[in-house]
Amino acid sequence: IQLANKIAAGEVVERPASVVKELVENAIDAGASVVTVKVKEAGLQSIAVTDNGSGILEEDIPLAFGRHATSKIHSNHDLFHIRTLGFRGEALASITSVSRVTLKTCADNEVGHLVKVENSRLVEQTLTRAKQGTEIIVEDLFYNTPARLKYVKSLHTELGKITDIMNRFAMSHTDIRFKLMADDRILLQTSGNGKLNEVMAQVYGMTIARDLVEIKGETGDYRVTGRIARPEHTRANRHYMSLFINGRYIRNFVLTKAILAGYHTLLPIGRYPVVAIDITMDPGLVDVNVHPTKQEVRLSKEPELMTLITRLIRDALLGENL
Ligand code: ADP
Ligand code: MG
Repeated sequence: IQLANKIAAGEVVERPASVVKELVENAIDAGASVVTVKVKEAGLQSIAVTDNGSGILEEDIPLAFGRHATSKIHSNHDLFHIRTLGFRGEALASITSVSRVTLKTCADNEVGHLVKVENSRLVEQTLTRAKQGTEIIVEDLFYNTPARLKYVKSLHTELGKITDIMNRFAMSHTDIRFKLMADDRILLQTSGNGKLNEVMAQVYGMTIARDLVEIKGETGDYRVTGRIARPEHTRANRHYMSLFINGRYIRNFVLTKAILAGYHTLLPIGRYPVVAIDITMDPGLVDVNVHPTKQEVRLSKEPELMTLITRLIRDALLGENL
């Protein structure tokens, strides 16, 4: 079992940012309205994620760390109608195979539980005082897989990736209050008031704040909402174009093209816009089960969605009388 976990860990947990991603996804799935992430040494020393979500019931604690243990899928039907961010039930198992994990959790305002897991083994479980929700601390990441540790890039690069991921969570879940701290420095703090333009101002700087145009529209199958920056705020790469499907950050070449088509001649050659767009659709129309990191997706009726996105952006920018 330990070996299997370590092998799978290579897929799910390739760097500190992947741990942050998986833990924050769990917090969101648990219905949290406040999520705090604290990292030391870009996560290599420690990653602590605290949420005020559902917590984990005592009897479910051993299950949570088990391989393919997920509370989120109950049938084959569920697998093709995924509404939660997690569903494979392998993140916690993978993380505990390559680090030392401490979990503190409290469900239904009952007594709290403190659990320590090392090398996929539960080494301690005690009662403790805890607030409603869950805190997971991951220490000494990759201590037992030196090859992977070596593969991790500079602390600066790793922290950048963690920040990117947190920024995207903040943009896709504007009603959650997020905080990211790195070695006691605050890198991101949102209010959770549901306003995407305010989150984007936090993430991309205040100068962009008043130049964010709202887009909103739907066809039978898709609803698209978001904010797009006016073309004077272009960037040198595609990195600032964030696409979400049902709240999950995704990458999709065709939809990126649709966004660029909406800006059309307003973009200088080699320049890209700043946008955050969320697409709501029947989960049955999107297959996120293509890759363990769940970032690449397959869509049904792609042309319909492309046309909608391009039109919404073009109309929004025209309406601004540029
Ligand atoms: P998945 O998210 O795919 O179900 P994970 O390995 O990420 O798998 O988590 C395993 C299980 O542990 C989840 O299904 C959930 O029941 C529980 N869990 C993990 N993190 C939390 C959390 N922050 N709050 C509540 N439950 C959690
Ligand atoms: Mg998960």
